Amino acid sequence: MTGYPVNRVKDSRKAASLFAVICLAAMIAQCGPADEKGLFVLEPLPYAEDALQPYISAETISFHYGRHHAGYVKMANSLVKGSVFEDNSFEEIIKLTSGKKGHVPIFNNVAQAWNHAFFWKCMKPGGGGSPKGKLAKKVKDSFGSLDVFKEEFITTANSQFGSGWTWLVLDGDKLKVVKTSNADTPLTHGLKPVFAVDVWEHAYYLDYQNRRADFVEKVLDHLANWDFVASQLEQ
Ligand code: MN
Repeated sequence: MTGYPVNRVKDSRKAASLFAVICLAAMIAQCGPADEKGLFVLEPLPYAEDALQPYISAETISFHYGRHHAGYVKMANSLVKGSVFEDNSFEEIIKLTSGKKGHVPIFNNVAQAWNHAFFWKCMKPGGGGSPKGKLAKKVKDSFGSLDVFKEEFITTANSQFGSGWTWLVLDGDKLKVVKTSNADTPLTHGLKPVFAVDVWEHAYYLDYQNRRADFVEKVLDHLANWDFVASQLEQ
């Protein structure tokens, strides 16, 4: 699956058809089953918990995916259920609640659920290396070289004070590196995310302690899923 799936259903009819689509996708992509109750779904990891070793340990993935990401999805469901946002998609809720004082908890949990599902797809075992084709050209046109991009990405990640995310985004025709705090996402700033690294301490502390830059460098060099990034450029 190259796209970003809508992972909530609005009524039982849609649930049934979405369930059928997801079952088909599951056969193709070896994903898990959909939720049939009309709730946000914790998407299955696209690889085994130990598949990103030695760069990210199974222990980190187990806590990060199984506790943190799962927690955001669970909380998003409990906050959205019965609210005015019940019929909206993830992306719609993020845009509708961003910067709204009364909706901070919904924004935080829905955005974090979205950010994490996106983040897992940005990595793969045996990733890293150099992007190819159109993406390689876009990186060169936007940054001058892959090395300049990597350096800017790592510096930006390291300069995020406290929790947040570092992103590669499409801004018009050019790629740009941006950072966001806490749950914030480029979706609310008119930018299209194509790659992300979670720089909350829970993403790396068990493996790297305070060495955030080392973590981000390892992700870029050994785990970055450039095929996924390229697929995001096409959408
Ligand atoms: Mn996280």
